[in-house]
Amino acid sequence: MSFALHGIAVAQGIAIGRAHLFSQTTLEVTHYVVTAEHRPAELQRFDSALLEVGQELKDLERHIPVGAPAEMAAFIELHRLILKDDMLARAPKQLIQQQGCNAEWALKQQLELLIAQFEQMEDPYLRQRRDDIWQVGTRLLKALIGQPAPSLPPHSEAVDSILVAHDLSPADMVLFKQHPFQSFITDLGGATSHTAILARSLGIPSIVALHHAWDIIREGEMLIVDGMAGVVIVNPDTQILAEYRLRQEQWHLERQKLKRLRSTPATTLDGTSIELLANIEMPDDVDAVKKSGARGIGLFRTEFLFMNRSDLPGEEEQFHAYRQVAEALRGLPVTIRTLDIGADKQAEAGNIASTLNPALGLRAIRYCLAEPQIFLTQLRAILRASHFGKVQLLIPMLSSRAELTQTLALIEQARHELTQEGLAFDPKLPIGGMVEVPAIALALPLFLDQLDFLSIGTNDLIQYTLAIDRTDDAVAHLFDPLHPAVLGLIAHTIRTAHKAGKPVAICGEMAGNPAMTRLLLGFGLREFSMHPAHLPEVKQVILKTSLTDLVSPVKRILGTYDPDRLEEAVNRLNHG
Ligand code: PEP
Ligand code: MG
Repeated sequence: MSFALHGIAVAQGIAIGRAHLFSQTTLEVTHYVVTAEHRPAELQRFDSALLEVGQELKDLERHIPVGAPAEMAAFIELHRLILKDDMLARAPKQLIQQQGCNAEWALKQQLELLIAQFEQMEDPYLRQRRDDIWQVGTRLLKALIGQPAPSLPPHSEAVDSILVAHDLSPADMVLFKQHPFQSFITDLGGATSHTAILARSLGIPSIVALHHAWDIIREGEMLIVDGMAGVVIVNPDTQILAEYRLRQEQWHLERQKLKRLRSTPATTLDGTSIELLANIEMPDDVDAVKKSGARGIGLFRTEFLFMNRSDLPGEEEQFHAYRQVAEALRGLPVTIRTLDIGADKQAEAGNIASTLNPALGLRAIRYCLAEPQIFLTQLRAILRASHFGKVQLLIPMLSSRAELTQTLALIEQARHELTQEGLAFDPKLPIGGMVEVPAIALALPLFLDQLDFLSIGTNDLIQYTLAIDRTDDAVAHLFDPLHPAVLGLIAHTIRTAHKAGKPVAICGEMAGNPAMTRLLLGFGLREFSMHPAHLPEVKQVILKTSLTDLVSPVKRILGTYDPDRLEEAVNRLNHG
């Protein structure tokens, strides 16, 4: 039977494929005593897990998809060698014998010891093997706990699959970047949750807040995902299927046409040039940035380097990641935002206690100032990378002057240390602040004299202005970028920054929404930073816009409080 589900569209496009239900597993390792009499059975359990994982890896090797990178076979072979090594295959058994503990606990202890040892290795190649050990160890833990390896289909099948999940974390989404699914749909989430942002960055249609999709849809069912309307059609009949295949083709053709704008300068009809920059999560995203024709990176969300791992990246690792991006951009600006973990972006090693209101708690700059060693490590890495390109440093979630003063003092300390150690950095590295909390937007003079530039994070600015959790599907309908309070804060920030002669950008999702482009241009915005996939569409709007035509309609919009009239006025601005 065919039926439709409605949610919030977060990434455009049309996908047609079979459902793959994804269930999340967390590894809870318990600790218990195993008496001498039961120890042989515990050792046996460990050996069985070793055999099971050995078989899993063999199967993986046999099913390497055609066209997979050449290193894949070598990579699996390495994992098989690690599995056989005494450090994993024997040492936990000794711990079971000596300590009388359960196999999972013994393995966890041994894994942590190995990770710490590898971390201290001088040789970067050997240091990187730490991740391989962790991955093999995790497989083994899962086999012991009785959880299957993550239920992802092989690469070749993923191409035709639509991933259906109750919820996905931003960390899951980063892993999926290597898995070419057709589309993602989830029960939970809001349009600007980090999971949605990442789905958008993959350039594949996605829908969140479907509420019951995971319960209702069955594995292998045919789905159509309409990323424009936010609709999922389950088991469509042949007629609907044919119609959507046609629409899908048209959509692809339009995207192809837009790609031709890559090297066209983003200039309005009246000759003002607009800076279009890109948002990235990982150094590998630089390829997409180059293909999009972006004039630099306006937001590098560095927290993604801290996810899907049990430890924190050290200075060298971070330095290499930042330097790689700075060099790849060849003199174009690269805005590196300091660590913004907390709330929906959790890193295992971050050790952030869960609280009732995580978005209002120890997040972003608050977390960094509470962990000065972690922060200093990152500041040193960013400063060192600044020697290799046009780097700018951006501070997230500022809300008080004291935070800014303390941050600047730590930057100064990092500069001093590097100078003493004879390590090069850009002494003029520009330092900017994110406008994400209404407090900073309302008290800009308190911050502006100490900052070189501003970047408005509309995702959080809307969340904090309207008191709407951006990840909560239950209140997602109230998350309103066109709320007069939000528009007022954005317009005020742009105006005040320009008056003070400081550049200001927007790097929240509003910047990549072509329906907002004219409004933001009318507010005076000249720098937009967005996921590379959105850049051509925004550029197309800019190319067809005359700034002088925007002045009076935008003034009227800023004085309008009636939501219906406001929406109508923005529609007219875009189409009239
Ligand atoms: C924002 O809040 O708008 C922003 C760009 O930061 P993030 O989405 O990473 O919180
Ligand atoms: Mg933010």
